Amino acid sequence: MSSSRLVPRLADMGTTIFAEMSALAVRTGSINLGQGFPDVDGPASIAQAAAEAIRTGKGNQYPPGPGIPELLEAIASHQRAQYELHLDPYSQILVTAGATEAIAAAMLALVDTGDEVVALEPFYDSYRATITMARGRCVPVRLSPPDFELDEERLRGAVTDRTKVILLNSPHNPTGAVLSRGELEAVARVAIEHDLVVVTDEVYEHLAFDEPHVPISTLPGMAERTLTISSAGKTFSFTGWKVGWATGPVDLVDAVRTAKQFLTFVSAGPFQYAVAHGLNNEMRWVTGLRASLAARRDLLAKGLAQLGMEVFYPGGTYFITTDVRPLGESDAMALCRGLPERCGVVAVPCSVFYETPGPAERAMVRWTFSKQEHVLTEALDRLNSLSASWRP
Ligand code: PMP
Ligand code: GLN
Repeated sequence: MSSSRLVPRLADMGTTIFAEMSALAVRTGSINLGQGFPDVDGPASIAQAAAEAIRTGKGNQYPPGPGIPELLEAIASHQRAQYELHLDPYSQILVTAGATEAIAAAMLALVDTGDEVVALEPFYDSYRATITMARGRCVPVRLSPPDFELDEERLRGAVTDRTKVILLNSPHNPTGAVLSRGELEAVARVAIEHDLVVVTDEVYEHLAFDEPHVPISTLPGMAERTLTISSAGKTFSFTGWKVGWATGPVDLVDAVRTAKQFLTFVSAGPFQYAVAHGLNNEMRWVTGLRASLAARRDLLAKGLAQLGMEVFYPGGTYFITTDVRPLGESDAMALCRGLPERCGVVAVPCSVFYETPGPAERAMVRWTFSKQEHVLTEALDRLNSLSASWRP
């Protein structure tokens, strides 16, 4: 059967680990520190704006393909206010069904059969899948613990004459690493030298805790070759609304728009009005979210370290990764599949984020701290109940 033309090319990618683990959490009534989503919704005024849009018939029918003017203008203002990036709202911005669609549309638009996309490994799960859908090849550049720094020589070593795109992600899921200005400059050097497009997934742009976020498109020579992707899901804690966007030079945005037209055409009509309201009025709330998440990062990092794991302290995102070998565990997949039954906690094994995980990668677990403090404390208590079965 496996050689049959009837077996879809993507079949061996199976169900995403996030879906599997969230279903497991529901089935076992566990605390879900697996899939990254907040357990408290974003600002009430944004939810009201969505309800009001639906009630008054805004966006209930197909909105304009590239996005509603109110949202395009709000994204342009946001890029200007945050980063001094000046974009034409009508030719340099595209609203998508979450960042997920922007990533898929970008890969379908920019990658041809056999083209290579250099991506930071561990990678967010949709990267390899969408590169495969485009019949391209994903070439990993490994970020190694404890700091997950991007090494310029490793990056250079991954680039060939088939390379078309460097796919970045900072702040980085799953490691929580934030690329420094120096690392971004190295990427820019390589991209310019080899005339590559950079697609950069910056959905956690507002969840960099220790230093201000630097979009790579702000570096000299990069605006004209960078497609930047972001999402309201993480910024405003409405991950279910799936409002994302891609911004950049006209030709790149045009190409992505063409692919997007035939994926969803349009999406999230009323929510687009609500996100425009958020970008225009609720950025102070986002500052508060960042501070509160940083505190929850610290709480979870400390608790996991006290349990005896090696904690790789993240600079951003929703996530902490740990090495569980100090606990006497070597198989994070088995550990994560067993934890719900053993103590009612769900987490994600990092092996799924690697092409060929070795022993170290197979012993890494990702935990989200995008939950309320008391939920994190309860999860740590539950994990602590296993301490007798763990080595330290
Ligand atoms: N990129 C990264 C790095 C993510 O972590 C996520 C999901 N959280 C996405 C893209 C998808 O974002 P969205 O929900 O807006 O599709
Ligand atoms: N980005 C979220 C995570 O990394 C999950 C989103 C999804 O399920 N696709 O956990």
